[in-house]
Amino acid sequence: MADTLEPGRITSLRAFDIGRPLGKGRFGKVYLARVNSTDFILALKVLDREEIMSTPRAETQALREIEVMRSLRHPNVVRMYDFFAEDDRLVLMLEYAAHGEMFIQLRKRKRFSERRSAKYICEVADGLAYLHTKDIIHRDIKPENLFLGLDGQVKIGDFGWSVHSPTEGQRTLCGTLSYLSPEMVLGLPHGKAIDIWALGVLAYEFIVGKEPFEADDSAGPRLVHKRICNCDVQFPSFVSDGAKDFILSLLQLKPEDRMPLEQVPEHPWIVAMRSKSR
Ligand code: ATP
Ligand code: MG
Repeated sequence: MADTLEPGRITSLRAFDIGRPLGKGRFGKVYLARVNSTDFILALKVLDREEIMSTPRAETQALREIEVMRSLRHPNVVRMYDFFAEDDRLVLMLEYAAHGEMFIQLRKRKRFSERRSAKYICEVADGLAYLHTKDIIHRDIKPENLFLGLDGQVKIGDFGWSVHSPTEGQRTLCGTLSYLSPEMVLGLPHGKAIDIWALGVLAYEFIVGKEPFEADDSAGPRLVHKRICNCDVQFPSFVSDGAKDFILSLLQLKPEDRMPLEQVPEHPWIVAMRSKSR
């Protein structure tokens, strides 16, 4: 099977055999599809232009971000082959993540083993480092925005979308809330290091099975914010010292103190987990 599509060649939904729906997003639906008379499988994200346009500036931003996304090529980033507009739809041709959402896997297993967590975290770090070299900050790293490919490798998805699609809906709001970095909570200028903080939150959620800064619903966001700004993390006893050290080297209050993404694969806990026999 060819591993890519030539850009600009497909300009109509008629070019596909549309298969089962894969899911539904805020602006449209995602379908499994196959390019007519080939074996090229992909995910089609079909967006309703009218709905995008009803959100101020969303369409311009969507188009600009689509341009960026289309230029990205990394094994741990969901690939966008191309996109086109047809009638009242905007169609994004995306790499199909055969094993679906990380979020679902995590809920199924409750939490991941440290070995599995280390593998996933390394892959997310690699994808993020790539985005950062392109001056793209993901801003919304969390299990809901990570997918799993055919070989079980992580695929970062949905980046940039957070910029123009304010996160609504309960789960998104809660999820996003506790992935916020201290500098974001405090309304300070922020940069790439917010993704490193989020990687630390993600590592915690993988290993522990819940978010590090969650608080009672009744307490509202203020308590979560307070816990974030104090880096008030508690670890259950089953978490190894290596994992704690790893997570805490990412969850540093000062952005400049956070471990650079390039050093993630060299951290002793990662090295130890990755050398464990399968
Ligand atoms: P938003 O519109 O805010 O991005 P969302 O993340 O819920 O909302 P989509 O990104 O449109 O929605 O995706 C909807 C669902 O379709 C996802 O939750 C996922 O299950 C599925 N999906 C999306 N992209 C892919 C893909 N590349 N491969 C496989 N499944 C996908
Ligand atoms: Mg999405």
